[in-house]
This record gives sequence, C-alpha cells and structure tokens, in this order.
Amino acid sequence: MCGIFGLVSDKPVKAAMTVVACLRKLDYRGYDSWGVAVRDNQNLFIHKDVGPVPPDAETQIPDLQSTIAIGHTRWATHGGVTRLNAHPHTSQNNKITIVHNGIVENFQELKEELAGRNYKFITETDTEVIANLIEDESKDGMPLEESVRRAFNRLEGRNAVVVMRSGEDKLVAVKTGSPLIIGLTDGARYIASDIPVLLQFTREMVFLEDGEMAVLDGGFRLYDAASGKEKKFEKSHIEWTVEDAEKGDFPHFLIKEILDQKWSVKNAANQKKESVMELAQMINNAYGTYMVGCGTAAHACRAATYIFSKIAQKHINFCIGSEFPYFEFFLKQNSLLIAASQSGETADILDAVKAARNKKAVVASLVNVIGSTLMRMSDKHLLLNAGPEKAVLSTKAFTSKLALFYLLAYSVKGKYEYGMQRINAVSDALNKMLTEEFLSSMQALARTLAAGKDIYILGRGLSYPIALEGAHKIKEATYIHAEGFAGGEPKHCEISLVSQGTPAIIIAPNDETRHAIINNAMEFKARGACIIGISPKKEPVFDYWIQVPDLGEESAIVNVIPMQLIAYYAALELGYNPDKPRNLAKSLTVK
Ligand code: GLU
Repeated sequence: MCGIFGLVSDKPVKAAMTVVACLRKLDYRGYDSWGVAVRDNQNLFIHKDVGPVPPDAETQIPDLQSTIAIGHTRWATHGGVTRLNAHPHTSQNNKITIVHNGIVENFQELKEELAGRNYKFITETDTEVIANLIEDESKDGMPLEESVRRAFNRLEGRNAVVVMRSGEDKLVAVKTGSPLIIGLTDGARYIASDIPVLLQFTREMVFLEDGEMAVLDGGFRLYDAASGKEKKFEKSHIEWTVEDAEKGDFPHFLIKEILDQKWSVKNAANQKKESVMELAQMINNAYGTYMVGCGTAAHACRAATYIFSKIAQKHINFCIGSEFPYFEFFLKQNSLLIAASQSGETADILDAVKAARNKKAVVASLVNVIGSTLMRMSDKHLLLNAGPEKAVLSTKAFTSKLALFYLLAYSVKGKYEYGMQRINAVSDALNKMLTEEFLSSMQALARTLAAGKDIYILGRGLSYPIALEGAHKIKEATYIHAEGFAGGEPKHCEISLVSQGTPAIIIAPNDETRHAIINNAMEFKARGACIIGISPKKEPVFDYWIQVPDLGEESAIVNVIPMQLIAYYAALELGYNPDKPRNLAKSLTVK
C-alpha cells in the first residue's frame, strides 16, 4: 500500500530528486497519488499530484541542494484522490510536515478537539489531524521528538508517520502496524516503508518495532514511544541485492517473478534442518494447528490441509486471516497458529496473530520479508527465501509456501530427507517445463481466453485450492470473471451458467482425483464448454492440452504455473499493466 521514503544527509544533496527516484521504486505497492517535501534553509517546498509519479517528475520539483526531504505514495483511505489530499501534509502554521501510512481510527474526535482550539482543516484526511496535533504539542519549544511522541500516543489504529519541522535537520518516525525501516550509512540516514528501496544505499537496516520512535538527524536514536526512554537498537544484515529487486531485462515484474520460480521453489527448502524439524515438532505437539492466510496465501493454507492430510495423515485447520479472530474461542495454550504471508505486514494476519496471542496460543509463520512484523511477532518462523516479490500478483511466494508445506508435512512424518528430494525434483522439472516454447503456447492460449467473459477452473482434492488460486490470478490481472471450484460442486449450481464455448480449465494430475475430475470435465463439455486440461496425460475430453510434468504428490506446484502465465499474457492482450491491477495493493496494511 502506501509508500514512504525520507532522508537526512550530512551534506546538501539533491534530496528531492532522490526521494522521487525512490518513490518510483515503491510504486509497485499500488497507490493513487504522490508527493514530496524538501527544505532549503527556511523554505519548504511541497509538490504533490494525483496519479503515478510521472516520468518527468524531476522537472516539476525544485532542483535544490538540501539535507532533508520526505516523500509518499498514497493509497487513499480518508478523503478522495485529490492533489490536496495527497501527502505530505502540513500543520496549520506550516511548520510541521508529515507523511503517514494507516488510519487514525479516532480522527473525528481529535479533529473536533483541535477545531475547538481554532485549528482549521483544509483536507479531508486523517493525516492532517496528526500534523495539527503535533503542532499543538510543539508549543513552548518542545523538542520535535517529544511533540511527535505525545501526539502519537493519542492516536488509535495502525499508523506510521515520518515528521519534519521547519528549521531542523531532523526526521522523527514512529509507528504501530505499518512497517518503517531505517538504513544507516556514513553520510546519511534513510527511512522507508520497505526494504528493496533501501538496498541501493545499504544492506544494514534497523526495523522499527511497533511502539518505537526513531530520530534521524546527525545520528540515529531509538526510543520507546510510550515512555520516551531511549532504547538500544540492532542492525539486521539483508541478503537481498539491488538486482534481486529490479526487473532487469524483463518487461514486467510479474513475468520475472513467474520465471524466478525456476530457483525460488528450491530456495524455499534452503532451511536449516533443525529449524524445519522444530516446526514439524511443534505441529506434532500442538493441540490443534491452524493455517491462516489472506488472498493467495489463504489458497496456499487451504492447500496445506490437503498436503498434511495425505502426506502426514494429520488434520490441519484452515482459516482466512480476517475471519480467524471470530474463531478465537476454541484456542488453547497449546494450539498452534501458522500464519503465511509474503509481506508479513498484512493487517488481517496481524490481527489473527493477536487473537491467537490473546489465548496464549503458539504462533509460527512462513514469511518472505525478513524483519517484517509477522516474523517478529512469531515464536518461530521460516523464511520463504523467494527474494523480493514486487508484482502485486503473488506468484513465487505462493509456490514457495507450497514447497515449505510439503517439506513440513514430510518432516512431521520423519521423512525430511525425502521431502528435500521431492522439492529438488519439482525444481528440476519446473526448469525443464518453463521453455520459450511453453511460454509461447501459454501466450497463444491467453490470447483466446482474453476474448471471453468467463473462465471456470475445476480441481479436486489438492487441485481445488490450486483452481481457486488460478482463478484469483486471472481475475487480478485481467478483470475477467474467473471462478475456481471443487470439481464436484458446479453441478449443484454453476453448471447452469455454462454455454457454448465457455472455457473451463480442468486440473487433472495423475492422482486419486483423476477419474472424477475427467467426469466433471465431461459434464461441462456436454453443455458446450471448451475444455482446457492441465495434466501430464492427454484425455479425449480436452479441446486444448497443457502438458505438465507428473510430479506425484507435488504436482500442485507446477499445475498453478500455467494459470499464472495465462493471467500475465491475457492482461497484456487486453492492454492492462500486469504489475499494477486497478484498486489492488501489494501489502494490505489496513483492515
Ligand atoms: N489515511 C491516510 C490518507 O487517506 C493515509 C493513507 C495511506 O496509508 O496511504 O491519506
């Protein structure tokens, strides 16, 4: 969602230009307007606009040497998408300038209170309330950090803010919920809402915890926001490289990341054996295990229930992140929640974790972003090791989660080594499958599918969550109505919607679901559907056959990939930017 970037430098630099370049790197998160604030001695310049950061943004902002600047990409929650509502926002006396991610849940009360003290508001945002609250607390020569701290402690909800005050070379940042990361170098200090944008400056980073406040000036200090007491901080070394976070020669992040699966699936299993075994042991000892995820991660968690059932003969519960708190009642101290999240910042997942914590249940996570809130909130975590995932559509993080679930299921049965062999076999097969020829055939198929209105996707058993995920990808990228089903279900309803030529993708691995799913395909075909089979074996019912390798239990990993490719190529065919689906954002930090 919203992106934040700021810097304080020892010497004057083209700070606003740096901020704008960094906002561009944050733009994969999905946003609707942007802005930058830069100071030249006493003069503050703010430039903001709706839409994406344009290619000529640098010509619109003052080309001045400065030691301090902040910028923001907004995903509107309070107030329309207008230039006025875009960040940065200033307080009434123009002295406080702020960028903000999140929602001030009690903003109405605070606004009324400030209005009672003669504060006037010119925007519809909750952010302007924070700016004025800090101004209000800034009276009588109060240090900026103390004013920010006092104001921040009055906010309800999940918020991250970065603040500057006129005449001071200092940024104060504080947060609950949304991520803020600090990059420290010899000549400058940087703050951003995510890791990749900081990699060009440093790989030594400090992750701000909830309730912590950072002060960036000639140095760096960390405080507890509640008490104001200074705290020690630890730097984390980030393994990701600048190249990992760029698209290189690829036209879009989405296709790069789909093809990254050639190595990322194997990398998911690149864990310390003891660490995997520890989580497997936790699953074995738990009173009940709950896999919890949102969106694509939810499909991976649903898949986990089938994987554990078959490979480990273990019952695992599945719940969508936003629904989990309503099931809190049956949790016990030895219940185990395993939360899966690419970003580790999804608000609904963090709420699920809080619900589990309320009942003192154990929390584990599978997460891609090192240092993320989820990772830090977990008793135990495994990293997906998929490298930065920047396309809004999650692809490699999905298959990495599947790979880890397989490995865990085998480990629960004491078959860790065999699990490793299987993941390596999948990775090898996937490398053979993803040829230029295969991509071209998916592109040709996508061209046909892009002309239609609906796509139905059917799978049974483990292929059912794969069908859901396939439909999810196609909807996200193309806005075509796509629906995934458990193969036995449409005869109760949706088969009535099938007409001549309706495309139906049938996932038919060589497993116990094969006969029944082929029969379901026949039922669709009898009503005019055009059958596209994803299968290692050709069947007479298929009008079009997508040949995938037979990987036994692990086939689910390769079966989802053709649908990722169809989503990508169909989006191109329809003239949409596959990296930036409308209304969607990468990391959903609001509820
Ligand atoms: N609630 C703020 C607004 O609507 C912040 C939005 C964001 O996180 O981008 O402006």
